[in-house]
Amino acid sequence: MTNSQPRTKNIAITGCSGFIGSHILERLLTTSDYHIYGIDISESKIRHLINNKSFTFCHHSITDTPKIREILSQCETVVSLAALCNPSLYNTKPVDVITINFTNALEIIKMCCEFKCRLIQFSTCEVYGKTLAGLMCSNKPDDYILKEDQTNLIMGPVSTQRWSYASAKQLLERIIYAYGFEYGLNYTIVRPFNFIGPQMDYIPGSDGEGVPRVLACFMKSLLYNKPLKLVDGGLSRRCFTFIKDAVDAFVQILENPEISNQQIFNIGNPKNEITIKDLAYLMIELYEQIAPRGSFTAGTEIISSLEFYGKGYEDSDRRVPDISKIQNMLGWKPETDLRKALQITIEHYFRKYGTTAEN
Ligand code: NAD
Ligand code: UDP
Repeated sequence: MTNSQPRTKNIAITGCSGFIGSHILERLLTTSDYHIYGIDISESKIRHLINNKSFTFCHHSITDTPKIREILSQCETVVSLAALCNPSLYNTKPVDVITINFTNALEIIKMCCEFKCRLIQFSTCEVYGKTLAGLMCSNKPDDYILKEDQTNLIMGPVSTQRWSYASAKQLLERIIYAYGFEYGLNYTIVRPFNFIGPQMDYIPGSDGEGVPRVLACFMKSLLYNKPLKLVDGGLSRRCFTFIKDAVDAFVQILENPEISNQQIFNIGNPKNEITIKDLAYLMIELYEQIAPRGSFTAGTEIISSLEFYGKGYEDSDRRVPDISKIQNMLGWKPETDLRKALQITIEHYFRKYGTTAEN
């Protein structure tokens, strides 16, 4: 597991075969001269990259401490993406969710301290939890626009297990901050806001099982001509961010270690805010332009969150990122509007799964 590159040119990426990891990997292998050690328990989204001479795929779990230590000891930078980050698991598999997102991720942080690696930790916009606007029926921007270093982080009760993931990620952020404060850990924390794009999740029944995130749920319904399910009416809002823009932001962070050191950045597209109900209508409209005429007729249907996710689910009402910090410090802003992001994504899913779904 050695290469001839100096340690400064080696990057470890945990979760490299996930949605975000696969896009970051592809970008770094085509536009940089880093050697990437990619760690994942799956290789399904990166098979086409495995023979790249600048890439070493390490088929290990992040729980395999001796193997992970060996890899990290050779790297200057660690990008921590490995996670269980699917809302349908937060109230059904909370022990696994907390263990991987906090306990196992913490071991990586300790190794970064020991080997003096720079850490780029993917956290989540869910650490903001509920908005003051939602709790207090307010429309004031300060009550719903989320700022990295100012906004309060508001979680629901412990019994509402939706917040298992957000709480695990929040505690992880706090311990990273503490390691930075006490031991000088060099870190950047990233809070992604609903990235979307090709390769996101899976289509249940085709290449995975369970309930994926909303984009893949809606794609499954479109491909199989079944109603798109609007949880509790689809009134929650999200700011969907195209993966290419998100990877651009990541590259700015990676390439600017001094400016990014000990900082937290939102990565999101506030201009792409939409209710889930309107997302469903927009995806139906765009799908009808791509798929053969008359292949989708099923429409939408409302379903309760209890029926869809089970007990202990609670929704995040609204998540609008303030992106002035990353814009001012690193010159990044998102370029892709929602319609364009969805067009590219739906075309990708249709090419990949369309024919299978028809049979
Ligand atoms: P993903 O589920 O597509 O990828 C996660 C990857 O981690 C998968 O390839 C999985 O196989 C791997 N993994 C899981 N358990 C592992 C283990 N024990 N050892 C090694 N690998 C393991 O998720 P994603 O969307 O790519 O998200 C990546 C990161 O970004 C996560 O930390 C997530 O919390 C965060 N995030 C993503 C979004 C988003 O919009 N996609 C939003 C908020 C936060
Ligand atoms: N949702 C929905 N129908 C689905 C899947 C999800 O209405 O088939 C809703 C979900 O309740 C939430 C939003 O879509 O309000 C986004 O869900 P996602 O799983 O993508 O992740 P989140 O943004 O909540 O982390």
